[in-house]
Parts: sequence; structure tokens; C-alpha cells
Amino acid sequence: MPWVDKDECVGCGVCVEECPVDAISLVNEKAEINMDECIRCGNCHEVCPQEAVKHDSERIPQEVESNVEKVEGYMRHFDNEEEKQSCLKRSMNFFKFKKTVAEKTLEQLETLKKG
Ligand code: SF4
Ligand code: SF4
Repeated sequence: MPWVDKDECVGCGVCVEECPVDAISLVNEKAEINMDECIRCGNCHEVCPQEAVKHDSERIPQEVESNVEKVEGYMRHFDNEEEKQSCLKRSMNFFKFKKTVAEKTLEQLETLKKG
């Protein structure tokens, strides 16, 4: 899925014009993509003169770091080690759930491939 690196976006509006479903708007002179509207056509990535529209694969390390920081933050709310470990286990179960959903979704999507 596309996402905008706000540090690189100069607010030129080209992507806004080229989005076929009006999923992009300028907020404080930076492009913002409404992912509920986006149909993954890739136009914004192609047309951005600043190469500010990135692919998901370019933010995997940041996403992982953010997830780990969140879980560490949850754990800090508990005083004893047992509670911290229970919190950690629940958080890991959450990511296992997300992984299973992703794997099963991919299995189903594979069946849509032609040829
Ligand atoms: S085309 Fe690129 S630089 Fe211009 S508004 Fe969109 S993301 Fe920002
Ligand atoms: S991928 Fe296509 S539909 Fe999605 S925001 Fe970019 S231009 Fe719009």
C-alpha cells in the first residue's frame, strides 16, 4: 500500500490530481492518503516528482520498531514481572493473530491469480 513520506512531500498536489478515486488530500501542505478509499492503483507512486510516495516494504523496520515500543510501553504499566509477562504474552498472541489472518488472506488471494 502507498504511504507518503511527509519529510519528502512538497505539497505540489500532483498525486491529488492523478488519484482516480480522490483518496488523497493535502493537509497542512502535505499529501495524505485515505486508505479506506485507495484502490491500490499505484498512480501516486508513479507521478510524484519527489518520490515521496513509498511502498510498504520501505517501512518494515520502522513498523517493527514501533510495534516493539508499543508493547514495551504496555508492559511498563505493570508492577510485577508476572503481570508484565502476561501482558507480553497477550501482545504476542495479538501479532500471531494478525500473522494468521495475513497468511490465510494470502492463501485466498493466490486463488485469484490467473495463469
Ligand atoms: S505528488 Fe508527491 S510531493 Fe506532490 S503532493 Fe503528492 S506526495 Fe507530495
Ligand atoms: S494508489 Fe491509486 S487509489 Fe491509492 S491513493 Fe494512490 S493514486 Fe489514489
